[in-house]
Amino acid sequence: MDLQEIMQKDQQYYMNTFGKRVPVCFTHGKGMSLWDTEGNEYQDFFSGIAVSALGHSLPAVVKAICEQAQKIIHCSSLYYIEQQANLAELIVRNSCADRVFFANSGAEANEGAIKLARLYYKKKGFPNRFEIITLDKSFHGRTLATIAATGQEKYQKDYSPLTPKFLKVPINNLEALENTICDETCAILLEPIQGESGVNPTTIEYLRGVRELCDKNEILLIFDEVQCGLGRTGKLFGYQHYGVEPDIFTLAKALGGGFPIGALCAKEYVASAFSPGDHGSTFGGNPLACNTGYAVLSTIINDGLCENAATLGEYFFERINALKEKIPVLEEVRGKGLMIGIQFNKPIAKELNQMLFARKYLLGTVGDNILRVLPPLIITRKDIDGFISVLEELLCEF
Ligand SMILES: *Cc1c(COP(=O)(O)O)cnc(C)c1O
Repeated sequence: MDLQEIMQKDQQYYMNTFGKRVPVCFTHGKGMSLWDTEGNEYQDFFSGIAVSALGHSLPAVVKAICEQAQKIIHCSSLYYIEQQANLAELIVRNSCADRVFFANSGAEANEGAIKLARLYYKKKGFPNRFEIITLDKSFHGRTLATIAATGQEKYQKDYSPLTPKFLKVPINNLEALENTICDETCAILLEPIQGESGVNPTTIEYLRGVRELCDKNEILLIFDEVQCGLGRTGKLFGYQHYGVEPDIFTLAKALGGGFPIGALCAKEYVASAFSPGDHGSTFGGNPLACNTGYAVLSTIINDGLCENAATLGEYFFERINALKEKIPVLEEVRGKGLMIGIQFNKPIAKELNQMLFARKYLLGTVGDNILRVLPPLIITRKDIDGFISVLEELLCEF
């Protein structure tokens, strides 16, 4: 099918939640590259929203999918699953968690975290501790509970009544948090580095302060590491930059390298609140998803991709900061590792992104002023140099 036929079919049969998409359809990829139906090659600097951390069609991942698919795809968690146990062990051995539960997406992992936090206090004998504090401009998913947790009205409006008992406070403001904590608070849920709202990191003082407030008030600390986890920021988990450990954290996006899988991870004292029957999932933790997740996570760890994200992220920041002197429209570059937001002092982000697309670079935007860069962790200096020279050329036009 050519692009026109695909677009027509989409417009006739698919629910219109994406509006006018970027007019392109990709047929295959390799490493940093994607090819469209017309045979054009693109450089992927967005990784399908932080998902394709290993780039496209990495042989180890393709092999893990194909070999597992030929053996057994699904059998339900009524039975023991070797691949599920292996991936859970790999996550536990490399994180602060003691136990893991697998879901199929980030939103679903967060739903599990919310349920676990409430259940933990119910079982401890505090039936009225159900309130969860989250941050303004956060993003936690698209289900009914996770849009209530999300601190952005655009995802919530028209879906009222929202799931109750999610309170919002501004990021990096300990006083606001302290004033909001009450007898009904059971948890604080936050992204160590906010992604969807334009790459906004929490500060070290803030996150350490949050941990102290949680300890003092006996509240659970939940980190949503769906986007900032798994090497994206230059460490395996975002929280490792802060010297702060959560009681619960969630993963998804990069974990399957594009194959759907999410994970709810917790310390033993919290995880043990779940008894048989308290939570479940038909697809969650199936052999295919877990075998794929194992291939992805072990590659990130064994191939030094956290280190690559740290080094090349630093290089990327240097190159952008050097451009600042020449290009006045460039205001700020923020983030960590390869989770990067470039802020302009004029609303040029959308037009710039279209121009980059015309030059065969794939990126994202937030609002009108922020360009979002989330390249695969396998990126090289040469890839960055190529991008920066195109970016510089285009920015001179503004
Ligand atoms: C993408 C994202 C989610 C939602 O993940 P889905 O797989 O789309 O449900 C949740 N939290 C954060 C921080 C995210 O970036």
